[in-house]
Amino acid sequence: DNAQPKKPDWIRVKAPTSAGYKQTRDLMRENKLVTVCEEAGCPNVGECWSQGHATMMIMGEICTRGCSFCNVATGKPDALDVFEPGRVAHAVEKLGLKHVVITSVDRDDLEDGGAEHFAQTIRAIRHRSPSTTIEILTPDFLKCGPEVLEKVVEARPDVFNHNLETVPSLYPTVRPGARYFHSLRLLQRVKELDPAMFTKSGIMVGLGEEAHEVRQVMDDMRSADIDFLTIGQYLQPTPKHHAVAKFVTPEEFKAYEKAAYSKSFLMVSATPLTRSSYHAGDDFAQLRSA
Ligand code: SF4
Ligand code: SF4
Repeated sequence: DNAQPKKPDWIRVKAPTSAGYKQTRDLMRENKLVTVCEEAGCPNVGECWSQGHATMMIMGEICTRGCSFCNVATGKPDALDVFEPGRVAHAVEKLGLKHVVITSVDRDDLEDGGAEHFAQTIRAIRHRSPSTTIEILTPDFLKCGPEVLEKVVEARPDVFNHNLETVPSLYPTVRPGARYFHSLRLLQRVKELDPAMFTKSGIMVGLGEEAHEVRQVMDDMRSADIDFLTIGQYLQPTPKHHAVAKFVTPEEFKAYEKAAYSKSFLMVSATPLTRSSYHAGDDFAQLRSA
């Protein structure tokens, strides 16, 4: 049965039409870059792209995992493109980004999980746009040794983001290839390697979790010294994907935000349309000037 709760009116999506949107889209096409904005069918694409914010997805369009909420194709990925870090850096420069978010598919087929490619991309952006702050949203490097994480941290991104995605009780159905504790520990390790680096994580809600489980995840994140938190409504990309169990109300989001600040996260975004990369740059600029 696929009786889904009806989409409430607080989930409104404007059709992308602006000139800025078109410019961002053209630049991505010209440089053969993949964005998570499009791959995930993100509801904020009109707003973000019109402002030149985009989240680029490196290491191809095919993922070795198959999370039940995610619209990225699963299969055997192509070989890494050695020119990609340069093209990403070129696009960041062209878009004049103050803050960029770089993410990727999972590459369990690569010995280092793609760590070196991430590091090269960070260095290439740094070289061409030294004042741009760089946020990476990485896979979990589950099949790799601890040295691969060091490789990425040594490239010194400003924000190291890795999403826990959901509460531990839903891992078997939502994120079957991943391990909750491994992901938590990865972020804790980043902080241990470089205490000056900001760490960030996020979850989706509306997948069937209980509110007390969300608050437990917050505590777990703080125990791992995670600085920033995002919580957004899960939306089903296609009928084949995990069903929406509930549309969490704006008031419930407010309550999560309040709870998170009381647990001393430095920065919290918890709204229905919050995505891991939504307004990431604005928030970061605010924090730096504080
Ligand atoms: Fe892209 Fe993130 Fe904006 Fe969505 S919120 S359009 S994924 S930058
Ligand atoms: Fe999608 Fe990431 Fe899961 Fe791959 S690992 S299926 S890209 S959420």
